[in-house]
Amino acid sequence: MTEFETLTKTLNDRLAELTSRVRRIDENLSQPLPADFEEQAVDLEDHEAMEAVENAGMLEIQQIRRALARIAEGSYGSCTRCGEIIAPKRLEALPTATLCIACAR
Ligand SMILES: [Zn+2]
Repeated sequence: MTEFETLTKTLNDRLAELTSRVRRIDENLSQPLPADFEEQAVDLEDHEAMEAVENAGMLEIQQIRRALARIAEGSYGSCTRCGEIIAPKRLEALPTATLCIACAR
């Protein structure tokens, strides 16, 4: 496999994982609240925590989709601001990075 094929697979695996996590949270959030008021309060706190996880997941899904699109069009690995090559070490640590280290500062 080429480097990009490996990366595409890694990103797609992560995308699938995130998508199913977000779907599970969605299902959880659409459950009706318990009738008991105290249980409701606990549940609402859980809801907020789940929504935070869901939002983070959806953000990462967007970033991964963008990275996959950039791989497909051949612009992956170059900075979207200055056009310089993003250091491979940076991409290794953060495969969805769109900015080089200088522009990200
Ligand atoms: Zn840059």
